[in-house]
Amino acid sequence: MTTQPSRRSFLRHACMAAGASLLLPSLRGWAETIHGPRITFAEFTTAAANEKIRTVQLRDGIHLLYGVGGNVVCHTGKDGKMLIDCQFSAGAAHLKAALNSIDAQPLRLLINTHWHLDHTNANPDMHKAGARILAHVNCRKRLATPQRIDFYNLNVPALPIAGLPTEVFTTAKTVEFNGEKHSLQHTPRAHTDTDLFVHFPNHNIIHTGDLWFNGYYPLIDVGTGGTIHGMIAGVNRCIALADSQTKIVPGHGELGTLDELKQYNHMLSTVAARVEKLKHQGKTLSEILATRPTAEFDVVYGKGAMKGEAIVYFAYQTV
Ligand SMILES: [Zn+2]
Repeated sequence: MTTQPSRRSFLRHACMAAGASLLLPSLRGWAETIHGPRITFAEFTTAAANEKIRTVQLRDGIHLLYGVGGNVVCHTGKDGKMLIDCQFSAGAAHLKAALNSIDAQPLRLLINTHWHLDHTNANPDMHKAGARILAHVNCRKRLATPQRIDFYNLNVPALPIAGLPTEVFTTAKTVEFNGEKHSLQHTPRAHTDTDLFVHFPNHNIIHTGDLWFNGYYPLIDVGTGGTIHGMIAGVNRCIALADSQTKIVPGHGELGTLDELKQYNHMLSTVAARVEKLKHQGKTLSEILATRPTAEFDVVYGKGAMKGEAIVYFAYQTV
C-alpha cells in the first residue's frame, strides 16, 4: 500500500477503504469489474495504531470522537460512559485515552450501529474495559460468524465471544442512561441489514451510523443486505426527527446539519430514480454509467475517494 495523504485521509474518514476506489478502473473497465481492489486488515491496523483521536464537545456531557474508522459518540454522566461505536482494536488505547481525558467516569455501555469492522473491531477491548454491548439482532449474528465485504474483496473473521453484543433487539429500543432516553431505531436493509441510528431526544442529537457519509458518496454493502432504497428510507427517518438545531453525527465525515442531510438524501433519491428507470428499460450497467447519472453531484460527493460510479453500481444492484 502507499502512504499517500489521500489514502490516510480515506482511512480516517471513509467506510472501509474508500481510498481503494482511487484505484478503481476506468468507467468502461468499472462496468465490467464487479469488485474493487483487495483491502487488508493490516492497512487498518497500521493506520489505527498511529492515529490520534480528535474530541469535540457536542453538548454538556456528550462528545464526538474522530479517529480511524466510524465516528464515535460518548455520553458521560452519573451512570458512567455510553459509547456509540468503537473503531479498531489497534486504536483502542488511543480511544480509551481520549475517553479518560473527558472525565474519570467508567465505561458501562457500548452500542454498535452496524457490523462493519471500522465500527466494531474494538468491541472486545471495550468489553474488557467494562462495557456491555448492545446492537441489532442481525449485527450480533454477523459479528459471530465470518463475513465478507464484496466491494472491497475483504474477508472479515468473526469477533471473539467477548466482543459479541449481549443485548439485542429487532425493531426499536429505548435505553435510559445518564438521564436521556436514547432511542435506537433499526432501519431495514439500508447500509447493511444490521443498521441502527441513535436519537438523543432531550439533547437534540442523532448519530446516523453509516446511513450518512457527510460530504461523500456512501458505501452500500449489498453483500450483507444493503439497498439504496433502504438507505433513503433510513435517512428520511432521521430527517423527520431533526430540526435546524439538531447536531447530526454521520458515520463518516464531519458533524452535520439537517440541510446537509437533506441535500445528501436528494442526491441518493435522484440517483436511485435515474438508475431504476433505466434498468427497468432494460439498460445494462455500462449503458447506465454512460449516461452519467451522478453528473451534477460529483463536484460535492465525488471529491473523496468514493466516486459516482460506485453509487450507480450499488443502486443498479438493488433497484
Ligand atoms: Zn459501514
